[in-house]
Amino acid sequence: MLRSKTLIFVLLSCIIFSTCQPKTKQWFLKMEDIAFEEATQRPRNYNSKQGCNAPLSYAPDTSHLDHFPMRYIRVNMHYMNHTDSTKNFNEAEALSFTKRYLKSATNDLKKLTKPAIPPNNNLPALPKQYRYVLTPLPDDPNDTGVYCHYDDDLFFFVNKGRNRNNSKRAVIDKYAVQADSVLNIFVMPHHPDSVKSKSYSVSGTGIALQNNLKIAGIYESGNHAPWAYRGLLNHEIGHVLGLSHAWGYDGCDDTPVHSNCWNTSKIPPCDTMASNNVMDYNAHQRAWTPCQIGKIHRNLAKLSSRQRKLLVRTWCDLQVDKTVIIKDSITWEGAKDLEGHLVIENGGTLQINCRVSLPKGAKITVRPKGKLILVNAWLHNDCGDEWAGIEVQSAGKQKGQVIFKGQPIIDNSSVFIEGIEKFEQEHLIKKR
Ligand SMILES: [Zn+2]
Repeated sequence: MLRSKTLIFVLLSCIIFSTCQPKTKQWFLKMEDIAFEEATQRPRNYNSKQGCNAPLSYAPDTSHLDHFPMRYIRVNMHYMNHTDSTKNFNEAEALSFTKRYLKSATNDLKKLTKPAIPPNNNLPALPKQYRYVLTPLPDDPNDTGVYCHYDDDLFFFVNKGRNRNNSKRAVIDKYAVQADSVLNIFVMPHHPDSVKSKSYSVSGTGIALQNNLKIAGIYESGNHAPWAYRGLLNHEIGHVLGLSHAWGYDGCDDTPVHSNCWNTSKIPPCDTMASNNVMDYNAHQRAWTPCQIGKIHRNLAKLSSRQRKLLVRTWCDLQVDKTVIIKDSITWEGAKDLEGHLVIENGGTLQINCRVSLPKGAKITVRPKGKLILVNAWLHNDCGDEWAGIEVQSAGKQKGQVIFKGQPIIDNSSVFIEGIEKFEQEHLIKKR
């Protein structure tokens, strides 16, 4: 009885006086906090099978989806029409169709559909961390991001024969809006003469031309249900984001070479090898493999890529609710653009092997029993601002560990580091 009373007294005094827990101290990283180690990898490895450039380094980890912030791709849509205005949707119809079309295509981005081939595969259906955002001109309140053009010379799409114009850029050069930062989508009818010809297929088709795309076969087919063309849109945007057709070798080991069956049938090879991949020609077009998803996110993370120009820059302003908290042992092989603070919790280890951008004012905190390992990592702010630096915490004898392997680079943070000049000299760090 006495013992339990003593225990209660001790517990109470712990709570009241906080004498049981050593006090947490914190400061911004100093030279003496850093443990330097040799790296076995080459600095910022751009080998395509591993490291910063490898698609699978960017495939979302479903146990830690908050480490893979959603990316938003700016789009607008143009509806090309004859001056008699009979060949495409009118303004009100175009706006309504666009909204339903983007929603329908986005639903397939949201759904987790397992790749159908090879048969009996173990490929996971990973989330796609990108979405489409209809983007009007920012300074024009009347702009919807949906445009109707009436142009007898440029309204039509022809994808075979003498008058083939699918890969021509004239319509893009004349009508694209915010071409440097928005994916311009042109909905064009097949040429009326082609539509009349029995040898010409008036099906849903399209072509990606860098950060623009043309799609045809929607209005003139008579089926104006947007869901019927959602695979077409996701396919063409897949090209814009850097994917190739998946039936040949496309640089991904998880998309087998196959004969591109339209649907499952009783006759081989379409009895077992009918694909549902978005980058094949098939009736479904709604599965992405881990490598394909990774490739898209790799291209969006590449600082100099044309695809990155299409993104809403959500990683510039600090969003505290997007703080990433590391509680277990994690390695980031691919580049990241974080939107909040980064905290390495007690018991957590984070190894960074590539580039990480932190938003303005964001801080990396290493708790007393946390560990941060920078292997040739590059920490910076991609928006021309400064992030707050690395805070180390201690409690009693425990101190957060910060390990530099190889040649990490710390940019755009004025708080870091006392003695940084000496560090740069000693480690031949090049400032970017
Ligand atoms: Zn294609």
